[in-house]
Amino acid sequence: MTKMLAGKTALVTGSTSGIGLAMATVLAGAGANIIINGFGDAAAIETERAKLAALGVTAFYAPTDMTDGDAIAAMFADAATRFGGVDILVNNAGIQHVAPIDEFPVDKWNQIIALNMSAAFHAMRAVIPQMKARKWGRIISTASAHSKVASPFKSAYVTAKHGLVGLSKTAALEVATHGITVNCISPGYVWTPLVEKQIPDTMAARGLTREQVINDVLLEAQPTKAFVTSDQVAALALYLCSDAAAQITGANLSIDGGWTAA
Ligand code: NAD
Repeated sequence: MTKMLAGKTALVTGSTSGIGLAMATVLAGAGANIIINGFGDAAAIETERAKLAALGVTAFYAPTDMTDGDAIAAMFADAATRFGGVDILVNNAGIQHVAPIDEFPVDKWNQIIALNMSAAFHAMRAVIPQMKARKWGRIISTASAHSKVASPFKSAYVTAKHGLVGLSKTAALEVATHGITVNCISPGYVWTPLVEKQIPDTMAARGLTREQVINDVLLEAQPTKAFVTSDQVAALALYLCSDAAAQITGANLSIDGGWTAA
């Protein structure tokens, strides 16, 4: 049987770890050639690339710094040469920094806005002509429950994720008649290195123990009292790539254990 995404090419930013890695794995499993991106240990990234290639697709690693607009444009030009274009773009690379606004480092603010929001603009700007030429496309951005609600000490992240949703809704309207859908997925807390890394800062900012941060801060917001898994987020991304999801566009889909229902 032909796989659902056979002949397609997917580019997942920030896919050397966490949610992006799970998304790259399901997309490759569904037959898409895959371009992974992100930072990390070179040998570990090559191991990941080889595992994806072993699924029977072409897997390529692009080391692009997603805060660099010119480098993003060059990555999509290179993808057009290698694969003829990108059919599925997942804007997923993201970082977090936790501090009160009056102590928030300006360089962290600029970095988070660049990576969590502006990178998606640069990527969409480059990929939309490729998708229009092929009359099909899926653009999925990993937003967050923080695209819908705020939490203290996460000003840059909350701002960037709200902006990412506005960008996606605008893009959805612009490309609606071209067979291209544009959506956001908004997870609650997913157990990944990004969450692990913010525990010490939250401990310091709020004067709490590690257990208190996990149970009283992170899972406090999530009515199911359980972390979302990367595989669950990836399954939703795969669904958005299916024909069944062709009329879902401009949406911001929550996968947050009921957090934003409260
Ligand atoms: P992660 O830290 O495991 O992965 C982040 C990825 O981004 C890594 O591959 C990293 O190398 C890459 N990256 C970092 N800076 C980069 C740069 N300048 N250029 C290119 N790649 C870069 O984090 P994660 O939890 O898997 O997060 C992935 C996305 O999901 C982020 O956008 C995050 O905001 C979002 N998200 C995460 C959670 C959660 O609870 N983990 C919840 C909601 C939304």
